Amino acid sequence: MIGFKKPPIKLIVSVFLISFVAIFLIYIDLENNKPLPIEEMTFSEDLSEMPSSVENKRIHEVSKGESLSVIFEDKSVPLNTAYKIFNFDENDLLSSIMPGDKMQFSYIGDELISIEIIKDEINSILIKTKDEISIKKVEKKSQIIKSINKGVITNSFFKNASQIGIPDSIIMDFAYIFGWDVDFVFDVRKGDAFSVIYETDYSEGEKVSSGDIIFAEFINKNNRYIAQRFFDDVQGKQYFNENGDNVKKAFLRAPLDFAYISSHFNPNRMHPILHKIKAHNGVDYAAKRNTPIMASGDGVISFVGRQSGYGRTIEIKHGGNIKTLYAHLEKFNKSLKVGSKVKQGNIIGYVGDSGQATGTHLHFEFWQGQIRTDPIKVELPSAKPINKNQFPEFKSLLNDNLDMLSKYSSIEYE
Ligand SMILES: [Zn+2]
Repeated sequence: MIGFKKPPIKLIVSVFLISFVAIFLIYIDLENNKPLPIEEMTFSEDLSEMPSSVENKRIHEVSKGESLSVIFEDKSVPLNTAYKIFNFDENDLLSSIMPGDKMQFSYIGDELISIEIIKDEINSILIKTKDEISIKKVEKKSQIIKSINKGVITNSFFKNASQIGIPDSIIMDFAYIFGWDVDFVFDVRKGDAFSVIYETDYSEGEKVSSGDIIFAEFINKNNRYIAQRFFDDVQGKQYFNENGDNVKKAFLRAPLDFAYISSHFNPNRMHPILHKIKAHNGVDYAAKRNTPIMASGDGVISFVGRQSGYGRTIEIKHGGNIKTLYAHLEKFNKSLKVGSKVKQGNIIGYVGDSGQATGTHLHFEFWQGQIRTDPIKVELPSAKPINKNQFPEFKSLLNDNLDMLSKYSSIEYE
């Protein structure tokens, strides 16, 4: 016989608490996911505070599958006006309307006076609806402004660059461009100097791009690094040093010789030891014990030591937000420690079977940011030197910039 027991008071309290928390979570979730009313998001000004004679604007973003007639109806464009607009569009300008275009409806009081279809920061189509209807393409004046900045490091590169007014995005790009040669955490010293020339696009006085570096120089412990932007006929936009070498560095696709691939990159692999589906996020190279392992590219050792399943492991941080990992090593190159610089091809360790390994092999991973990619298939950075035919053109650009820089007197912070 099963006796009926009163549920203990603790249980009642916890059930109550759990449901309360659950309801609360659902409530938060609803709050977060609730779509904002479109009109509220798109009003550019608060209409309620406008006297009726002042021009006011409503902005609408064209969504997929939306037609002009539906939008016009939605925005209470008088039928008569809508009809005239369609009739007037002899050059078929309105057929270029696309999802993502912004439409700005301008009113004085209740009267619609114009509709501007904004294609981008520069181009728009202006429909005037007051009195006579007119439709025309409008191109706003754009301007490219060049800026020059020079500084000396007293604190950190980021702080000092920011102090002299270099925008954050340019600072990040600068560190990225030189990230193949300079580690901005380990390498930077007091007294290092930097210079940058960059351009920013403005349209009608408004900044429309975060800027692009044309030229950059970094003097680090008496090494001088130069990067000149150049549009190479073959590779597109690249940065090259004064010799025309690409600032990006190359990678070896396989970090060892005399090996064969024993297991490919495979997100759905059955693990040979654990016997369950476990992603294989690298490539395995079967090789004899003590086969030398090379650094796949220039970089800085960011880890050397043991990682549970991986055994003896080395990680190298490269430029371009790339990291490579080498696991199951028999032994390390003893001279390496965190922060050591390595060149492509330097021997960093030797093949073994430390950690969880079925046989002697190298497990090799290629990280781009937080994502592991297939080292066999990944598109490696294009790191070719400049197209030879274009070298004279490149050299004269570079000299112009060096000239400009020498004329610019820097403000130095002590
Ligand atoms: Zn593996």
